Amino acid sequence: CGIVGYIGNQDSKEILLKGLEKLEYRGYDSAGIAVRGNEQIHVFKEKGRIADLRAIVDESVSAHTGIGHTRWATHGVPSQVNAHPHQSTSGRFTLVHNGVIENYSILKREYLEGTEFISETDTEVIVQLIEKFANEGMETEEAFRQTLTLLKGSYALALLDEKVSDTIFVAKNKSPLLVGVGTDFNVVASDAMAMLQVTDQYVELMDKEMVIVTKEQVTIKTLEGTVVERKPYTAELDA
Ligand code: GLU
Repeated sequence: CGIVGYIGNQDSKEILLKGLEKLEYRGYDSAGIAVRGNEQIHVFKEKGRIADLRAIVDESVSAHTGIGHTRWATHGVPSQVNAHPHQSTSGRFTLVHNGVIENYSILKREYLEGTEFISETDTEVIVQLIEKFANEGMETEEAFRQTLTLLKGSYALALLDEKVSDTIFVAKNKSPLLVGVGTDFNVVASDAMAMLQVTDQYVELMDKEMVIVTKEQVTIKTLEGTVVERKPYTAELDA
């Protein structure tokens, strides 16, 4: 239902949790965050309220990069296991997703025979596909792009790769997603309101674009790999 992401120099946990709280009014059944601390990705997720999630987040993990999600279940019951972020089998890739992948069972059958699934979500197929293509030798960006070309349905996605530090991979199709621009940091949000406390400069994303977000740079590309230049706009709080 909602997505946030942060990459910069500050403690990402608090920024992500605050961002998710701003999205609470939209409704959700579970929530989670994944943060990158000490070269490792830590996932915290819980059924219920953001307050329940807050209670399980390990304060001692220091992390300057992270992604967060509020889930409104479409595939699989509301539960801790089905809550996002979802991880690939090896734990290398971590993903949050808004939307519905219509052909997830076909993709599972065609490409992921033998892969063990942990959740009942359509989302897990995406993260397992990315890992499959990466295992076959593709760079992360290519594995992500290859996966996107196979998906039918709606998605807003934010992805972390344990092996690629300080980057959030982002994509969207028919679900809203924005990249917020700051000085020495950048953010990701399904709604500018979630991250207005850190920046009011947002770049709108178009369907079937992917974005490589680092703390210094936002690179938008089409699925064909062409770089797209787009200026940020100033977001204002609706009265
Ligand atoms: N289809 C996904 C799920 O059921 C994402 C739902 C959402 O947009 O929150 O987990």
